[in-house]
Amino acid sequence: MKLVDEEISTEGISTKLLEDFRVLNLKRVEHVSPDIVLCAVIVKFRLALVCSIARVVPSLRVLPIDVRRQVVKILCPHVSEEDGDTLFQCVASLPDFPNTTATESDAFHVFSPPCDRCVRCQSHLVRYNNPVEVDYYHLTGSSKGIKCSLKCS
Ligand SMILES: [Zn+2]
Repeated sequence: MKLVDEEISTEGISTKLLEDFRVLNLKRVEHVSPDIVLCAVIVKFRLALVCSIARVVPSLRVLPIDVRRQVVKILCPHVSEEDGDTLFQCVASLPDFPNTTATESDAFHVFSPPCDRCVRCQSHLVRYNNPVEVDYYHLTGSSKGIKCSLKCS
């Protein structure tokens, strides 16, 4: 009887936690613990998507907002632009996101310049072409990626 009670209580707690994570406003998380933000984005967007965005955050960070939105749309076409912005902002705000266990062969790469400003004149870089899906080759075969071309404004 005690075991059944514990089971019911655990189930109740987990249902309540899930509900709390679902109603958490991910646009207002500046003062929320990163652990909570991580749990909430996983509940909202699923673990696989959060990991795939986390892997390419360094590339997404340097892109102008319009190009970044295009790339996020390619990565997760079913997510609205607003949710895509929220997802990126939450994942980008997490410190030291653990390196996921993806191997080179299933890692999706976003190829972007290493900086968001021109190295000659310090102007912001802007879109040159729309981001395109590409195949790229490495030691263990080939993978899919997205190539972003920027130019000096
Ligand atoms: Zn320049």
